[in-house]
Amino acid sequence: MIADRMVGFVKNSSAIRAMFEEGKRLAAIYGAENVYDFSLGNPNVPAPAEVERAVKAVLEEEDSVLVHGYMCNSGYEDVRAVIADSINRRFDTKFSERNIIMTVGAAGGMNVICKTLLNPGDEVVVFAPYFGEYRAYIGNYDGVLVTVSPNTETFQPNLEEFEKKLTAKTKAVIVNTPNNPTGVVYSESTICKMAEILERKQKEFQTDIYVISDEPYRELAYDGVEVPYLTKYYKNTIVGYSYSKSLSLPGERIGYLVIPDEVADSEDILAGANVATRILGFVNAPSLLQRVVARCVDAKCNVAAYNRNRELIYNSLVSYGYSCVKPEGAFYLFVKSPTKDEKIFCEAAKKHNILMVPGSSFDCPGYVRIAYCVGYDTIVKALPGFQELIKEF
Ligand code: PLP
Repeated sequence: MIADRMVGFVKNSSAIRAMFEEGKRLAAIYGAENVYDFSLGNPNVPAPAEVERAVKAVLEEEDSVLVHGYMCNSGYEDVRAVIADSINRRFDTKFSERNIIMTVGAAGGMNVICKTLLNPGDEVVVFAPYFGEYRAYIGNYDGVLVTVSPNTETFQPNLEEFEKKLTAKTKAVIVNTPNNPTGVVYSESTICKMAEILERKQKEFQTDIYVISDEPYRELAYDGVEVPYLTKYYKNTIVGYSYSKSLSLPGERIGYLVIPDEVADSEDILAGANVATRILGFVNAPSLLQRVVARCVDAKCNVAAYNRNRELIYNSLVSYGYSCVKPEGAFYLFVKSPTKDEKIFCEAAKKHNILMVPGSSFDCPGYVRIAYCVGYDTIVKALPGFQELIKEF
């Protein structure tokens, strides 16, 4: 018998698996080029040329024993120093190598920080809609997920409800901007108000409440929109970054945590995250990839390609009568289902070979997520199906 808790996780993940299988089934019947799979956040843009050059350079120029060996559980010191310098240059911060912990992508980083911070029963506040894996990241350490309901007008966080959801047991708040699944970037005024509420509540409860800024989509922002760097607005902020989307390297599993000195109990958190990295079984982030990303800190992902997709799919769907907040970042569109039960809408879409994820997976029923990190032609070919589909409701 597997553990009771795993039964729930397996059941949930079979829903995602079922979608993947459905894509394969449709591809076998109609041909892969005629199936429009908008379900996965798997970047379609290739990794920048710097990545391949860096892989070759590391293998040719560096000592192979060092490249493939164990290192400090937090990662290579020189890599962490390069990353700290790059953050400082971009965001006018003052981090050093000691503030950076290399992680196995954002998922690894989130698990490391949740393991480090959470006692059983500690509450972690999230804003719906949210990335469904947070349930597992928090549940893995017996934390309690507390949801703030969505503000469907703008998908900026509902701060009135947020304030009411903070209690003496709140240990952390997860903030994800640019957001999966809405593509919304939280404005500076939202962040300032959120910080002000948190400061007040910390005083009231005499506790430390940590913001965990989960930001794998930081580099994917459009129309010159600014994505505020949260450590500058709220002292107790820990950042989780990933190269999965920014360098199109999701399979390589590489990212980092930033744990600033200003954070309450930073020494302990740094020591805890180092040990958590080891005892969760990661031991350390992939060594070759650490060395590669250190050479690619200034590489730019092809944001223009995602922007072209965004303009096409957003403008087309709106012109057909769909309703959606225009995303300013990430590569997702969160569209209101034309019928209350969005699962019925997703089923009907499959008849047009269109795959989307129901909003219930993100704790926001009545909406669907479209991941537009696909080829431009896939969108062009799917559009007639979207146009027909809305007429059915
Ligand atoms: N957080 C969010 C909001 C995500 O959307 C994802 C992946 O899609 C992750 C974390 C995990 O990213 P990684 O592949 O870097 O583990």
